[in-house]
Amino acid sequence: MSKPLMRIPYTGPLPPPLIIPPSAATKHGAIAALAHFLTSKSPAPTTTNSADGSSSHSHGTKDKDGSGADLPEPGPSLPKNTNTSKTVLLTGAGISVASGLADYRGEKGTYTQNKSYRPIYFHEFVASHEARKRYWARSFLGWRGLHHASPNATHYAIRDLGRLGLVDSVITQNVDSFHPLAHPALPTIELHGFLRSLVCLSCQRLMDREAFQARLAALNPAWAEFLQDLLKSGALDTEDPLERRRKGFRTNPDGDADVPGAPYTTFRYPACPHCLKRPPILKDGSKGHVDVDADGAWIARPKSSTSSGGGGDGGVDSVGILKPNVIMFGESIPSAIKAAAEAAIDAAGKILVLGSSLATYSAWRLVKRAHDRGMGIGVLNLGGVRKEEVFFEASQAGHSHEHGHGHLQSQSHRHPQSHEHEQSHPHPHLHTTDSALIVNRDVVRASLPTEEILPGVVDYICNQRGL
Ligand SMILES: [Zn+2]
Repeated sequence: MSKPLMRIPYTGPLPPPLIIPPSAATKHGAIAALAHFLTSKSPAPTTTNSADGSSSHSHGTKDKDGSGADLPEPGPSLPKNTNTSKTVLLTGAGISVASGLADYRGEKGTYTQNKSYRPIYFHEFVASHEARKRYWARSFLGWRGLHHASPNATHYAIRDLGRLGLVDSVITQNVDSFHPLAHPALPTIELHGFLRSLVCLSCQRLMDREAFQARLAALNPAWAEFLQDLLKSGALDTEDPLERRRKGFRTNPDGDADVPGAPYTTFRYPACPHCLKRPPILKDGSKGHVDVDADGAWIARPKSSTSSGGGGDGGVDSVGILKPNVIMFGESIPSAIKAAAEAAIDAAGKILVLGSSLATYSAWRLVKRAHDRGMGIGVLNLGGVRKEEVFFEASQAGHSHEHGHGHLQSQSHRHPQSHEHEQSHPHPHLHTTDSALIVNRDVVRASLPTEEILPGVVDYICNQRGL
């Protein structure tokens, strides 16, 4: 088996974006190139020397639940029981900016606006009661904004691409639940989990975030009052991160708010209600015990505890800790999710990246997988993408003759920079030689906002089809 996918942020500089074909520099050109990419009948991708037999489990785990039911299926030319001309989408924070959420790297992005921002890491959250108090205090204030934001034109265009029969699965790095809200019939693999639920680290049960929010308010009346003040100040009336910041309120892509000077140490959060009622059996066979105060707020087990391994600051032996059901930085993606994402790649003929700079290796590696399978590769992202020349250069190597619009045709698009030293996670399984790649790869690369392009792509395709 290959290594687990771990969510780790990449903070190095990104290269300037490639533009392929050159006409994709304009809005109209990008729309035409993307429409061509999505509708072209690519040859079936071939597996090269991928060590895990990736093409053999393509259809096993995907949920085919009638996406596209509202529109007629595409023409009879599409071979039955193959998805090889279909495109799998991989989306990132860039597509939710139009919903008012901050991305990481954009002009209004977290890394740009708040140089000192550092997301909490999984090991910190698990190990430290203090870290959790701080996290939940900020999240308590940040939650309303995320909850009140809605899907935008990009998400609805994705729904339409599903109805047109061009896309039958979406992989997202976003935790905002906009995909399932906008296109419940088109399956979404939420690679990094979702904020709409919490998960108990002991019993793995999910808890609704709204119910949790109400518990936080009850346990922290002073903070609830502070939140009301924020509401009155109007800082939460706008989804514009800049305007919010002017009113003293900052939010980050994970729904984490930043309120300087707030006394996190006084914040209380509830224990898992299920573990409180039925204490779980621990790994060593003993019965766990959830320590709570009179109001049901989680408290760290005293150091004199008989429980093995300590955990005086609420460490790993602590019971009944609720965590947002997202993959935190430094946390591995569950193997079932990883397998589903890989199966979605393997079931498609092309991959289109939307609004992601692929800064997390888990996402980058999925595109590399598609690349190694010889799949068509499209990227629509405002700004550069981590090591994107790997995806576009290698496809040129075995590319000896002219292809139609949308194919990579000449050396003139080669990116001058070399990034051979950046490979932070060597992964010998998926290395291929250039000669093993098929030559006829569809590619498109544009650097424009997805919400300005993708609805136009849908219109373009519908016009072509007379819909
Ligand atoms: Zn529990």
